[in-house]
Amino acid sequence: MSTTSLPTDLPSDLPTPLPSGAIIGIFGGGQLGRMLAQSATKLGYRTHVYDSLADTPASRVSDFETVAPYEDLKAIITFAKSCDVVTYEFENIPIAAVKEAQKHVSVYPDAKALETSHDRLIEKTFLRDTATVPVAKFHAVETMSALTNALTDFGGPSVLKTRRFGYDGKGQVKISDEKDVKGGFARLGGADLIAEDFVPFVREFSIIAARAQDGTIASYPMTENVHKDHRLHTSIAPANDPQNVKENAHAIAERILDALSYIGVMGIEFFELENGKLIVNEIAPRVHNSGHWTQNAGCTDQFEQHIRAITGLPLGDTVPIQTVLMTNLIGEEIKNIKTIAQRPDTFVHDYDKHDIRAGRKMGHVNEILGKF
Ligand code: AMP
Repeated sequence: MSTTSLPTDLPSDLPTPLPSGAIIGIFGGGQLGRMLAQSATKLGYRTHVYDSLADTPASRVSDFETVAPYEDLKAIITFAKSCDVVTYEFENIPIAAVKEAQKHVSVYPDAKALETSHDRLIEKTFLRDTATVPVAKFHAVETMSALTNALTDFGGPSVLKTRRFGYDGKGQVKISDEKDVKGGFARLGGADLIAEDFVPFVREFSIIAARAQDGTIASYPMTENVHKDHRLHTSIAPANDPQNVKENAHAIAERILDALSYIGVMGIEFFELENGKLIVNEIAPRVHNSGHWTQNAGCTDQFEQHIRAITGLPLGDTVPIQTVLMTNLIGEEIKNIKTIAQRPDTFVHDYDKHDIRAGRKMGHVNEILGKF
């Protein structure tokens, strides 16, 4: 039997990684925080979860828990001082909380990444003008006439979105023509909106990519995503690539991470057009639902990858051995999880959420489709 020798030196450009037992702070107690905490534990770290609610999916698997509002800057300072590095699992944390924490401890991804993705107008402007990647045409909309002008500019339908707090299709409405303007504008609150050109995509995919503290980037193969009721339903990876767009997609992802001097894992959502052109829809400065397949693909999973990036460890291998189909379990679907668990080549992930609510992400299933 042949053996390989284990490396004894780290790449010279990386900082000294945080030692075992160091404490990783996580803003947000949801399922992403939970899976980050589980990966941190695997790497020998301890975790401290901050959330406004007690007994969350993440805090239940963490060493320490702070329950306080995100506006409580005293609690934020105490939390930050107790951690060796801090990260976050969702992008709607008040920026003031992250900026305060950053005065006391390194926060990765930093407040700039959060600020950029907090607001769709800032995000789209950054993507177009700073990262110089292709996005749909867009206009800020504060008045009904601005929306009418946007429709004229697009020469076709638009997707009207709230600038902030939109997710899973919430806070958006399709405006097909002028007769939809008044109703759509009123439905989204009539202010702080963005109108985007409607993109006639043939499919949606994402790239999950990580950038380490020395600027090294490692990205996973393209993931094809199917949405149901505006929510991610399934992801399959590595995706087929009939139009051979993958090199372009990876290059775009790298431009975005570099433009932000980003540290950690990011999810980048794309539209693919019939002619092979790519358009970036949005970025998420965190681990991403469409990256859950990495947990059972035989490579470093996205949660461990994020922990590696923020603690100064070298990035792990992103080449999967298996092709995986990830399916979200929404609401009552979680009740089938124990039945699903008996199937071969199938891995179940239960977020242990107490209340089953319609539309709520409760767990997911990774099914191995075969060797990659
Ligand atoms: P978002 O909240 O921006 O991720 O949008 C949710 C979903 O709405 C996307 O995954 C697309 O299916 C659809 N969508 C968003 N923006 C557009 C657009 N400009 N054109 C066509 N479909 C869109």
